[in-house]
Amino acid sequence: MLERFTEHARRVIFFARYEASHYGCPSIESFHIILGLAREDRVLFRKFKTDLQKLSELYERLYPERNPPIATSVEVPLSAESKRILQKAADEADKFGQRHVGPEHLLLAATIESTQVREELGKLGITESTVLESVKDFSRRMQVGDLSRKFENFFSAGIAPRTGIGYDLHRLEPGRKLIVGGVEIPFDKGSVGHSDGDVLIHAICDALLGSAALGDIGAHFPDTDPKWKGAKSLDFLTHLSKVLDEKNIYIFHIDAVVILERPKLGPHFPAMREAIAKALGMQPDQINLKAKTNEGVDAIGRGEAIAAYAVATIAG
Ligand code: MG
Repeated sequence: MLERFTEHARRVIFFARYEASHYGCPSIESFHIILGLAREDRVLFRKFKTDLQKLSELYERLYPERNPPIATSVEVPLSAESKRILQKAADEADKFGQRHVGPEHLLLAATIESTQVREELGKLGITESTVLESVKDFSRRMQVGDLSRKFENFFSAGIAPRTGIGYDLHRLEPGRKLIVGGVEIPFDKGSVGHSDGDVLIHAICDALLGSAALGDIGAHFPDTDPKWKGAKSLDFLTHLSKVLDEKNIYIFHIDAVVILERPKLGPHFPAMREAIAKALGMQPDQINLKAKTNEGVDAIGRGEAIAAYAVATIAG
């Protein structure tokens, strides 16, 4: 069963064994798994505003009597309840169609299988339902394409996220379409430029290429290449999505700001997020968009141009 456990989840059990030995327990109990989780996955408990120190203090209050530590060379076995927690973690992963078993599944399983864990962590707001929400959230993000394996690989391999920045500006002229974030916005002016002049998509392309250290949009989509003549900017994103996917790169998040004097973009954001998410195989809530005016200053302020900045966070 452990072959499905991520490196993180295996380390949780390693640390749980360490905690049992440290406290002189002859078997690894459910609360040792909680301490192991707190040691290995600090992020998991951060949202519940608790950490290893607080959980260790709680443990010591629950078990004031202490045996001498057991030598770490002695293989302390899992208790029957802890074995059930491991099995339950795998069952919970199955329910979500997840091949991997991670720390979040172990925490969920511990709140289900162990009365003591349920009661004590419940006082800290860590309940089956709150943990389930975390697992669902995680699951939802993972189920975009076939990303569960990548997630597992990143976290197990300890690969850090990377961030890239992108910027673009286009002149605005009458009689052209204004396309922002893949959505046509009704307006009396539009972008002048290569393809459909979608500043937001161009900035996102550069942010993604920057995060992956793959150069810039000009190198990937040269305006001299007939292949991209008349292409929609969203097609650039679809292409980049494939490039990143082949490199086993996962996009966690995109944030962007579009700067233009008029018209208001806010009402179009849901459609833009939808279009961008679709092109990149992401969920709309992994994409944040903002709009600013330039307070009447400079060319943007005079309505002669539109600009955008974007930041992308990836791993892989
Ligand atoms: Mg451009």
